[in-house]
Amino acid sequence: MALREDQILRYSRQILLREVGGRGQEALLSGGARVDATGASGLTAAAYLVGGGTPVAGVGSLTLGPWSPGFLASSDDVGQPVASTLAREAPALNPDAANPEGRGGMIAELPSAWSGEAPWVALCGDGARAGVVFRSAEGCVWCFGETVRHLGSPPDGALGGALGALGAVVFQRLRLGLGPSLGGRWLVPPGTLEEMELRRCSRCASRQEPSAP
Ligand SMILES: [Zn+2]
Repeated sequence: MALREDQILRYSRQILLREVGGRGQEALLSGGARVDATGASGLTAAAYLVGGGTPVAGVGSLTLGPWSPGFLASSDDVGQPVASTLAREAPALNPDAANPEGRGGMIAELPSAWSGEAPWVALCGDGARAGVVFRSAEGCVWCFGETVRHLGSPPDGALGGALGALGAVVFQRLRLGLGPSLGGRWLVPPGTLEEMELRRCSRCASRQEPSAP
């Protein structure tokens, strides 16, 4: 897929980044995201993905929560289905971001049911910190599941918005083939990033144990 002139203009700031470039921008435009979220973090992530050229679709039957208004949803959308709101607002913000087939990776606020194509990006929290857990197609699906199973919902408000921006960058990096295939980060208020220790599935854990002498 070659970029059109209007797309080169729209994404010029991203294309100029060494890690993105023309090829990377084409990858962002051709790979979609399914969004399962009702709050500040998921809707902020969706807005950043839309702005960057990722086609975005809402999945599931959830309705938008009180913290969802922002770049994409307005206060009138609170209580409306996520899927229909994103189907209307994503292409309004960026015509390239329409995703009527609901294809692509998944970015979701916990708790969520994970399935389908990678990348998967989970937005979560532990009561004090905001967290993101991610895997590419090469990352172990069971380690991802074991980790997110023990984590709670993401925060709303400003910390949730910051988490959403981080989640969108993580999703885009996985789309570009950058970074580890499995990982997690804590966003500690007011704005420090820390490595998150992931839980291991039994198979990966046994593989990592030192061999007996
Ligand atoms: Zn594993």
